[in-house]
Amino acid sequence: MLAASISIVLFVLSLTNCNTKSDSDEENLLLLAAVASQRVCANSAFTGTTVVNSTATLDTNTDCITGMTSSMSSDLPAWIRNNFKCAVGSVSGSNYVFRAQNIPNNKSYYFGSSSPMYEALAPGQKSAGNNQISSQCLVYSIPSSPTEKLTNKTGTQSGYVSVGITVNGLAIFNNAAAAPDTLSTEAQTFDNYNGHPQSSGVYHHHSQPLNVSNNNSNLIGVLIDGFAVYGRDCTNASNVTTTPTIGSGLDSNHGHTTTTQHFSSATYHYHYTSDPTAGIPTLIGSYFHGTPGTVSN
Ligand SMILES: [Zn+2]
Ligand SMILES: [Zn+2]
Repeated sequence: MLAASISIVLFVLSLTNCNTKSDSDEENLLLLAAVASQRVCANSAFTGTTVVNSTATLDTNTDCITGMTSSMSSDLPAWIRNNFKCAVGSVSGSNYVFRAQNIPNNKSYYFGSSSPMYEALAPGQKSAGNNQISSQCLVYSIPSSPTEKLTNKTGTQSGYVSVGITVNGLAIFNNAAAAPDTLSTEAQTFDNYNGHPQSSGVYHHHSQPLNVSNNNSNLIGVLIDGFAVYGRDCTNASNVTTTPTIGSGLDSNHGHTTTTQHFSSATYHYHYTSDPTAGIPTLIGSYFHGTPGTVSN
């Protein structure tokens, strides 16, 4: 009984850790169950038809997977409305709500070799076990007026199912791998766009999504505390571009308060940057700057 309780706690704590290795029998059974029955969400009325990885194709009109709804409501601010897709965004009270099936609009080894969206791994990369991408039911509720939390900051490794959403509707994961690995080890299983799935099929990015940003100042997404995430570079409202790093412009959580292309008054935001905990550059550090909202799957 005690052992069972401990293993449940460990499972919850490891949710956003990079748990790609399905080398235990238990995980493989979970994987088989996930493949056998494609997940249909209670919110499928919002997100469109459930996407099956083996038959997924790209809709060239939306640049999202065929069948997935891509819509951002008109009451969202322009920086979200004009940049986010492959999810359904709306405003609910003092929160922005995103619902996402979380299927990438880029090719990936992890669609499986029979899929039209399959692409081989780059030379030197390794497969993350039998893991394959599968449709999810992610719902993010993100404060529309982010609040800074200057003391007792919330850790990003606190069991969240995702710590943010990219502009192409995908989960952002923290800077940790399943112990004893660091992300620098698990990066060997990234596909050609720097993503990979958990054993439960949740495709995610710890590192810059190469389908969105490649060492530039593009908007990458938003974390669940409501602060935006940009690429490696920072272009301010005066169109001046710099490359801030931790200790040289950025705090230890990858952020700083300046204007950006989207915010004409100085606003806190994060950058993709070198992360000492991960051993590789990541989208997020070990703590949120603000008070996180909620995310479910
Ligand atoms: Zn991972
Ligand atoms: Zn910046």
